[in-house]
Amino acid sequence: MHGTTALPAECAVPDNGPLTRRRVPEPDHPYRTPFQRDIGRVLHSRSFRRLAGKTQVFTERASDHFRSRLTHTLEVVQIARTVARALGLNEDLTEALALAHDIGHPPFGHAGERALDDALREYGLRFDHNLHALRIVEHFENRHLEFRGLNLTLAVREGIIKHSRDYSAADHPELAEYFLDQRPPLEAQLIDWSDEIAYLTADLDDGVEAGILSIDEIRRGVTLVERHFAPLLARHPAAPQKLLFQESLKLMLNALADDLIAETALRSHPLPTLEQVRRAPGRIAAFSPQMEQLRREAKEFLYRNLYLCAELENGHRQAATVIGDLFAVWMAEPWKLPPSYAEQVATDGAPRVIADYIAGMTDHFILEMHRSEGRAPVPLGD
Ligand code: MG
Repeated sequence: MHGTTALPAECAVPDNGPLTRRRVPEPDHPYRTPFQRDIGRVLHSRSFRRLAGKTQVFTERASDHFRSRLTHTLEVVQIARTVARALGLNEDLTEALALAHDIGHPPFGHAGERALDDALREYGLRFDHNLHALRIVEHFENRHLEFRGLNLTLAVREGIIKHSRDYSAADHPELAEYFLDQRPPLEAQLIDWSDEIAYLTADLDDGVEAGILSIDEIRRGVTLVERHFAPLLARHPAAPQKLLFQESLKLMLNALADDLIAETALRSHPLPTLEQVRRAPGRIAAFSPQMEQLRREAKEFLYRNLYLCAELENGHRQAATVIGDLFAVWMAEPWKLPPSYAEQVATDGAPRVIADYIAGMTDHFILEMHRSEGRAPVPLGD
């Protein structure tokens, strides 16, 4: 199948052209494409390294085998590159987008995101991890002499904000340069689905490892597992259940990726250019209707039995308390923020800057900060 799915070359974002534009112009590299350079800049950034200390799903580290946001990100890179290659899209751009896709996530996973959003709502603001990621790569990463931030290409900045949702120009005039009335290129459209493929399979795995989910209930509730598990069991009746489950998860991942490739290729064929992808009435990258139904079933199973389960509730409550307490400490005394954040307060206002600071922290660091009530034990960032 993979030999026949490649889209016309005009669908892919080219390695030259307007989407490689940077805010501060730089000479071309002699042998690296602009997107390969963006891969390097994200990979070598501090905010990327901090993903190692951020929760994916499990806040309390009962096992070294759970995914962190870093290992999750690397799984997304692997899946997204595979899909991009099969479709003949720009693999380097896809990799840069996959590496950056979770860089704006705060500590404590989605519980942390909700807590930050709640704190900001009191001031009429919202927390959005895509917009925060853009602020990181535009401003808070500060390691280059010639420019502030990472000076990434336009394609990567556009993909960072648009990979998972659309923003209206009326609500976000500051994002005007990102073609808000158009669809993102296919490379960016793939990221959200590659993310889903990665976490649906990984969270079933980690949920079993944590002792919260049982393989039997997953077999009853997730068709995408059972449709592989049952025939494997028939062929290998003496095999350990855990191995059959692992093999089923691998086949589930492959089935999702295969379907995404085939359906996206099918839906792209009447639209042979990037311009037409952009002007299409909706996003093109998608699962087939049958697979979409199975994807939803798996996702709803995870919400019901894992993400909202009582065993994880303690961690979620702790996240809300820690973030709420620290937010209040710095709102009362914003001059206690590290200098690079404190100097932003005049421009962006204290609530936004405090959210920026908190969102950059690892789980470990924010807990240390909370223990010392906002007095930094070691400085974060510069
Ligand atoms: Mg993700």
